[in-house]
Formats: sequence, C-alpha cells, structure tokens
Amino acid sequence: MKIQRRDDVDPICPHCSEKLAEVWYRELHGVAGRRYVYFCPSCRKVLGVSHRKGFLMG
Ligand SMILES: [Zn+2]
Repeated sequence: MKIQRRDDVDPICPHCSEKLAEVWYRELHGVAGRRYVYFCPSCRKVLGVSHRKGFLMG
C-alpha cells in the first residue's frame, strides 16, 4: 500500500457526504492530557480524536 498526495481532490465526510475543504478541531483538556477532536464543518460530527495536533488518527 502506498500513500499518494492529492491536493486537487477534497475528502468527503463519511457522515453527511459533504466535501471537506477544511476540517475543524477543538482542543480538549482532561485528566489524561490534551486531546484534539476533529469534526466536519457541515454536520459537526466527529471525524477523529488525536493526542497530537494535525495527526488525525493518532
Ligand atoms: Zn459531515
């Protein structure tokens, strides 16, 4: 499996099927430390949670 960069194609939200030209995120603070929750700007459903900024499925 290889990873290919495609800046000309927008990802699609798995929840509302809108094109994701951007992804919104919020910073959460909890006992286990800092978390980033990523969500769709259209339907606001969560796409993923990460321990690190800018790392979607980490
Ligand atoms: Zn959506």
